[in-house]
Amino acid sequence: MLRTHTCGELRINNVTQTVTISGWVQGVRDKGSLLWIDLRDRYGITQITIETENAVKDIVDTARSLGREFVISVTGKVVERYSKSDKLETGEIEITPDKIVVLNSSITPPFTIEDSTDGGDDIRMKYRYLDLRRNPVRQNLELRHRMAIETRLFLDKLNFLEVETPVLIKSTPEGARDFVVPSRMNQGEFYALPQSPQTFKQLLMVGGFDRYYQIVKCFRDEDLRADRQPEFTQIDCEMAFVEQEDILNTFEGLIRHLFKSVKGIDIPELTRMTYADAMKFYGNDKPDIRFEMKFVELNGVVKGRNFKVFDDARLVVGICAKGAAEYSRKQLDELTEFVKRPQIGATGLVYARYNTDGTIKSSVDKFYTEEEVKKWAVAFDAQPGDLMLIMAGEENKTRKALSELRLEMGNRLGLRDKNTFACHWVIDFPLLEWNEEAQRFFAMHHPFTSPKPEDIALLNSDQVGKVRANAYDMVINGVEVGGGSIRIFNKQLQSQLFDLLGFTKEEAQAQFGFLMNAFEFGAPPHGGIAFGFDRLCSLFGGAEVIRDFIAFPKNNSGRDVMIDSPSPIAQAQLTELGIDLKKN
Ligand code: ASP
Repeated sequence: MLRTHTCGELRINNVTQTVTISGWVQGVRDKGSLLWIDLRDRYGITQITIETENAVKDIVDTARSLGREFVISVTGKVVERYSKSDKLETGEIEITPDKIVVLNSSITPPFTIEDSTDGGDDIRMKYRYLDLRRNPVRQNLELRHRMAIETRLFLDKLNFLEVETPVLIKSTPEGARDFVVPSRMNQGEFYALPQSPQTFKQLLMVGGFDRYYQIVKCFRDEDLRADRQPEFTQIDCEMAFVEQEDILNTFEGLIRHLFKSVKGIDIPELTRMTYADAMKFYGNDKPDIRFEMKFVELNGVVKGRNFKVFDDARLVVGICAKGAAEYSRKQLDELTEFVKRPQIGATGLVYARYNTDGTIKSSVDKFYTEEEVKKWAVAFDAQPGDLMLIMAGEENKTRKALSELRLEMGNRLGLRDKNTFACHWVIDFPLLEWNEEAQRFFAMHHPFTSPKPEDIALLNSDQVGKVRANAYDMVINGVEVGGGSIRIFNKQLQSQLFDLLGFTKEEAQAQFGFLMNAFEFGAPPHGGIAFGFDRLCSLFGGAEVIRDFIAFPKNNSGRDVMIDSPSPIAQAQLTELGIDLKKN
């Protein structure tokens, strides 16, 4: 071993011992008569101190030749420090070296290996192996490791088996875009990488493995955002002989266990909200309930005063921002600009200040008297000091825009503390979602999701869009961390669903025949859930960008800039695969 201890391990009770530590040179400070080396590894930093006049010349020369990130091994005596540091865990001791061995040199790193580095995103991605030496990145990956371990411990105790499912599978049209892999042995044919192990975990249930999980890579060829990666990891789970209630309870247990064991936090029991209420009160199927600020509909109190914007609107709806009546004109203009941004797309914002002196001033006082606006305040249950913000227009668009404004106000009023966690379930999602462009229904979750038994009768009616699913999402602080459903386990119903989704019998059979056939051999009732593991880790780590919790992530164009991938392949490889790029 090139070390007896790590660089984070030595304490006052090691004083007088002779030890060997190895690591990277964080820095060398040369004061002439005294010379210090900070030696770093994964576990911490230890100071090596050399009194140049008393030390062997060889050691002094070696020390003076060191540069940042050189790899060295130091053998010497642990001594108590004269001036102690409480910034380092090893701050009470230092090492007087008898021997320094340079194990490897380093060229100057392109950014500093410090907690707050001078390197921008791009350069750190290109030299990710150097970025990994930084504490914040390492700590994120340590957190990820702990989350994975605790997940396994919890699920193992409940008899879940971790089973691996294949990565080369079959492309299906439903869901996101597939990544595909050409088959050399079957030219002209392609495997797809799994978007999730969905059908396999259901087949495991048919196979009698009644509790399955897997911490598994999934792949979706979608445009990237800060919280998306083309390959990502799920905690994927499935259970047989269960109802929705059992799944919710089991995985509420998992999340509580993770909070307790990883962060030492006892979270309260998860509340449940229907999808319909989430949309009505928050305009969002993953509401952030760290703060209230619920939507209040005002159609009943604002119409018929010749204010065209409100009179023509399908929906007039607002929020009440507590204590924000003193917002300046400039701040209110900023909010109006905010909702008019193309991503949000609203045409304007109406506000009414409920001043602390009891007067009310609205931005539409040409149309509404103060008395009339008082009625809005009653609807909002507003108090003096509050600010009412109101939007109007087509129903879904307006709710969506107001939802963005609500989150923005939450940020501005400091109501979204990243160390406060509000976890809840959203349940009773619609089974289907109408797509205008394709002029057909799509499965809101996926086509294997079971309708609520009491809604099955509506499947054959013109009310089919109203059918609710036994589907649920877990939401933490406005982030959907997991989602799942109770599955269809009957061939007929599954086939009926493919029908509704516009599959012909032949297409359904060709693409999902394997699953429907399996349902004929005694498939048990089953259901499951999958958690976005990267997202969950970033949330636990108090960050928004999942990239920081992945050892080797892709950038926003889906590239790994370190290994420079994707990249062209040789003509010979293409030929072998039977792919002729020139044809197109
Ligand atoms: N496979 C689903 C997904 O990836 C989750 C589930 O239904 O279990 O979203």
